[in-house]
Amino acid sequence: MDADAIATANELLGNASPHEVLRWAVKHFHPKLLMATAFGAEGCCLIDMLSEIEPAVTFINLDTGYQFAETLALREMIKDRYGIEVELIQPDTTVAEYEAEHGGPLFDLRPDQCCYDRKIVPLKRAMARYEPRAWISAIRKDQTTDRSAAGVVQWDAKFELVKVNPLLNWTKKEVWKYILDRSVPYNALHDRGYPSIGCWPCTNAVGADGDERSGRWAGKKKKECGLHVIENKDGAGI
Ligand code: SF4
Repeated sequence: MDADAIATANELLGNASPHEVLRWAVKHFHPKLLMATAFGAEGCCLIDMLSEIEPAVTFINLDTGYQFAETLALREMIKDRYGIEVELIQPDTTVAEYEAEHGGPLFDLRPDQCCYDRKIVPLKRAMARYEPRAWISAIRKDQTTDRSAAGVVQWDAKFELVKVNPLLNWTKKEVWKYILDRSVPYNALHDRGYPSIGCWPCTNAVGADGDERSGRWAGKKKKECGLHVIENKDGAGI
């Protein structure tokens, strides 16, 4: 898809509903369409929608080895509820091997390297295997400054494919209304003050009124694992 086609798609889908965006993505890219999910609230909504639109979309879960037990339990609930396959994408070392190799965990000292080694590298390997032409992300515009600059459809230079963001214009309230209206399974940690859930060493509870992303890499400059930082042609993040 070239830049003109992406601009046209954004004109068409800029104000479309998530269902309309997903139908468009399925029509244009399935079976070369992939969704990577950590089973956040938004991801669970998209899985619920896709289960009716096209359940054979490729779903993958990045299993860094540092996921919460609650996330692993949710993964099983989702698979049972929707009857979908969710492939685990894992690094080539266990957590024990990785920490032994580096003289201890890197999530505090060098979290960018830890994310790169345990998320980006395995994801790139999965991308090379599946060769998707597009992937679906669950980001919302109001989550971070970086995300506010995203388009519903955009070119992802890091993975060299189209990125589709069906929930970009939804609010947190709309996400939770959808979950509750449809009894979508969600991570039990959300009810314990964790609005955004990643790996356990880098995720804190923030309470009901806390900023949604402030519990991720709390106390560090880092705000993203790198998966959703879109790079321009010079490699700089936007
Ligand atoms: S989120 Fe934390 S534990 Fe998970 S890969 Fe990144 S730095 Fe490592």
